Amino acid sequence: MSQPNKAPTLLHLYTEDTREAASLLKNAVPLMVQHNIPPNPVHYALWYTYSKGKEPDLNRRLDRIVADFDSFPSEAAIKLFRDYIIRGELEEARAGQQQVIELVDDLEGDLSQSLSGSRHYQSSLDQGLAALQEPIIDDLPHLLNDLQQSTQQMQDQQEKFLYRLQAAQSEIQHLRGQLERAHLAATLDSLTHVFNRHAFTRLLQQALNSDREGLALIMLDIDHFKHFNDQYGHPLGDRVLRHVGQLLRDLLPPRATAARYGGEEFCVILRDCPEATQARAFAEQLRQKIQALRVKVRRTDEVLDSITASLGFALAEPHDSLESLITRADDALYQAKRNGRNRTQPEISEPVLSA
Ligand code: GH3
Ligand code: MG
Ligand code: MG
Repeated sequence: MSQPNKAPTLLHLYTEDTREAASLLKNAVPLMVQHNIPPNPVHYALWYTYSKGKEPDLNRRLDRIVADFDSFPSEAAIKLFRDYIIRGELEEARAGQQQVIELVDDLEGDLSQSLSGSRHYQSSLDQGLAALQEPIIDDLPHLLNDLQQSTQQMQDQQEKFLYRLQAAQSEIQHLRGQLERAHLAATLDSLTHVFNRHAFTRLLQQALNSDREGLALIMLDIDHFKHFNDQYGHPLGDRVLRHVGQLLRDLLPPRATAARYGGEEFCVILRDCPEATQARAFAEQLRQKIQALRVKVRRTDEVLDSITASLGFALAEPHDSLESLITRADDALYQAKRNGRNRTQPEISEPVLSA
């Protein structure tokens, strides 16, 4: 069997406008009903693509599955979904899913309208029947009765369809919520609720690529934290890290981003800081707030006032790569450590060599 075509992105897969997409979905749904396929987002996506007919391989495989099996096997559906629909990227999957949600929304709107039209039609017929007390043509009441029955059938079918669509829609919303939570979990640090290192490097790279004007990076490291853990235990150490995460989130200026770089090290990406004075002012504010933290040891009721941090910062320069900017901020941080800790240190400029 030939392999699926080279993977396009999901957005490229769904280029139809709403009318075309709704008509594809209208073709897909009767096929799903005919083959008794549960209306869930995976199946919708497969049969929607089937209706488009642009993936002959997928169509052949779906035809074979419905011919060979009484009920549609979910493992096969997932595999086809992976092979022909998702093809990897979470972000794209979310975009595609959003599109399916919009389609279902549109289609549901169409159906609601047609349902209310057919209700109106039926009530007109009811009125017509009542008016025919004295039949003029013998067969007319019969005829109208038949017509009314078929209208009723039509309405029942549409109601069933609408119900299925609503169920599918709520399932899609549920899946979307799950994906959003998974996405957050993948970017946030679970202890401190600031971004994790992976997200930090992605965001800093993005900032360097798009707009490095006024970009500054602060690196922060808690002082003597190993000793703190040894003396008061890791759970209290964790509590301190949570406090620092909270402080960062509370104090963050607009467009800034805070992340846990690892262990007891944090970093802040600042925007709108063309001058060192602005970065220094924010770093100093952080340092002072950390020094002002009071943490109670629950076992002894002792209140600790000894938590401090050292900070280093650097402003992005035109030639900076991700690594060079981090290295300069990190070097500044270690200079702050060497200078005695609990202080803020700007990047160290290269010594000017005299001729
Ligand atoms: P310095 O002032 O030079 O930074 O000294 P330090 O003791 O803070 O530095 P060092 O790198 O030697 O130790 C870092 C400590 O941070 C070691 C580890 O016990 C602690 N740490 C790292 N991650 C966590 C964590 O998630 N929870 C807790 N409680 N401690 C952590
Ligand atoms: Mg450290
Ligand atoms: Mg430390």
